[in-house]
Amino acid sequence: MPVSGLSPYDDANVFARILRGEIPNRTVYEDEWVLAFHDISPQAPTHVLVIPKGKYVSFADFSAKASDAEIAGFTRAVGKVAQALGLEEPGYRLIANMGEHSGQEVPHFHMHIVGGRPLGRMVPLA
Ligand code: 5GP
Repeated sequence: MPVSGLSPYDDANVFARILRGEIPNRTVYEDEWVLAFHDISPQAPTHVLVIPKGKYVSFADFSAKASDAEIAGFTRAVGKVAQALGLEEPGYRLIANMGEHSGQEVPHFHMHIVGGRPLGRMVPLA
């Protein structure tokens, strides 16, 4: 069920629970700013989610309210994870769904890193 990207932060969301260690995950990287882990329902051979440790509902929330240090830490971590996964030479796609039209389902900001095969058009033509 798509969510609004402008709602108040809900501490019960699944990624908040992963950050608290209440739900297991397959971690690929962690530092003071982010946790990166394999998506439970991968859409490509490599499908990793990078989430900030701070409480942000969506990209709109993160870009408006996160500190410069959090934004830099997050951005550098996404690049580092993609590089470590061996995706730089063949290429990869970053996706951040924001709000209902995007289909965002989890109300904790996350970046999808998707790769491992040619990914086709950016947005399927209707
Ligand atoms: P969204 O549609 O919000 O951009 O993406 C949410 C992503 O989170 C989906 O790709 C979904 O498969 C993934 N996801 C949902 N619940 C879990 C979970 O419990 N563990 C992991 N690893 N991924 C999850």
